[in-house]
Amino acid sequence: MEKITIKLGRIMDWFIANRNKLYLAVCLVIHVIYMGVFFTLDLLLLGYLNFVSSAFYFYFLFIKKDTSEKTMVMTYYEILIFSALSELALGPEYGFFLYMVGMSATVFYLVPSYGNKRFIYQGMGIALALITEGTIIINGISFPHMQQVVEPYRIPIYLVNLGITATIVLAATFFYSKETESVWETLRYNMNHDVLTGLYNRRFLERHIELIPEKEKSQYVVSMVDIDFFKKVNDTYGHEAGDEVLVRVSDCLKETAGKENLAVRWGGEEFILYFPNTTPDLIYPVMEDLRKKIENMVIVVKGKDIRVTITSGIATGLADSNYEKVIGSADEKLYLGKQRGRNRVVI
Ligand code: GH3
Ligand code: MG
Ligand code: MG
Repeated sequence: MEKITIKLGRIMDWFIANRNKLYLAVCLVIHVIYMGVFFTLDLLLLGYLNFVSSAFYFYFLFIKKDTSEKTMVMTYYEILIFSALSELALGPEYGFFLYMVGMSATVFYLVPSYGNKRFIYQGMGIALALITEGTIIINGISFPHMQQVVEPYRIPIYLVNLGITATIVLAATFFYSKETESVWETLRYNMNHDVLTGLYNRRFLERHIELIPEKEKSQYVVSMVDIDFFKKVNDTYGHEAGDEVLVRVSDCLKETAGKENLAVRWGGEEFILYFPNTTPDLIYPVMEDLRKKIENMVIVVKGKDIRVTITSGIATGLADSNYEKVIGSADEKLYLGKQRGRNRVVI
């Protein structure tokens, strides 16, 4: 199941990455087919119109190889002109106006960097559809001869035009919402996590404690952790090596926290482990294990062996007491640990 989801995700990424190229290819195929149909029916005017449109897409797709947003705007003009002319030639019963309406929705997705200008494009599409229809209603159909020739194919042409527009609009809406969803996911993740270590950030912990409902408030334990002589790691091995040490230490913290507790990057090389519904006596051995684990860990960066130790201070608080005071108390214990020689847990 997971594999299928990953595969689907990749296919979707491919579609999103190649959306402009695909869009041009679909437009080219449609015009080539219509060109064939209209030339076969001996409707030269419509045949040439589709020939010009096909050449337009062929040029951008294979000669200029330009699938930029600017090209997408050009295709939008092409679609508007093409559908207005087809509509004027054959009348509204063939559904060519659908392209004006449908594409005015899709253009929004195809030119994301144009901002509010996109609304103008959308307005243009709708306005042109109204003007074209108005003209037909007031003046009648301009080329009744053409309409007579295509009359037997009226329903299939209408359905094809409806099908294509609906599919393109659906695809654009689908991919647009997928893209928006993934942006939101990233935003939500970044709001709550530290980017370097993947731990929860300070803001997340603060909100988490603040949001505990009154009746669920119970004893919790906070352990403040600080890497000893971390400045020396940066000075001796460089900032990048320092980052790697932070990541490795954070991985140990995550493992200690497991699913029940929270591992938080509080700031620079300071962390907090938050344990709900427990007591300091139970947490002390957990922190001792973590301390020993980090003491024995060798972090290899660019062939150099780096070892670090941590000092931690444990404090307890009822969730209704001021959490800042609880964290402050853990910090005081940590400070004591530093004074007593580091690499220890103070309760
Ligand atoms: P102590 O044992 O007293 O805690 O000494 P220390 O050297 O660990 O403490 P100090 O607070 O003097 O130094 C912390 C250092 O952590 C200073 C800062 O440059 C470094 N630091 C903070 N954030 C980062 C980071 O994201 N990456 C790296 N590489 N270093 C960081
Ligand atoms: Mg430190
Ligand atoms: Mg520090």
